[in-house]
Amino acid sequence: MAVKIVCADFNNDCPAQFTAGDEGELLEHVELHTKTAHQPMEWTPELVEVVKTHLQPA
Ligand SMILES: [Zn+2]
Repeated sequence: MAVKIVCADFNNDCPAQFTAGDEGELLEHVELHTKTAHQPMEWTPELVEVVKTHLQPA
């Protein structure tokens, strides 16, 4: 199932949004984005769980 995520759903004004063919692929995009655009935020297992709650069908 294709999934989508909108970075602004995380209480920030980041315009980024990502769509991917499945959850694992989407999480890879979000991980890279978090590490490059949202330093010093760390990509933790807890954050992954929060991110998963914001996934939408695309
Ligand atoms: Zn962002």
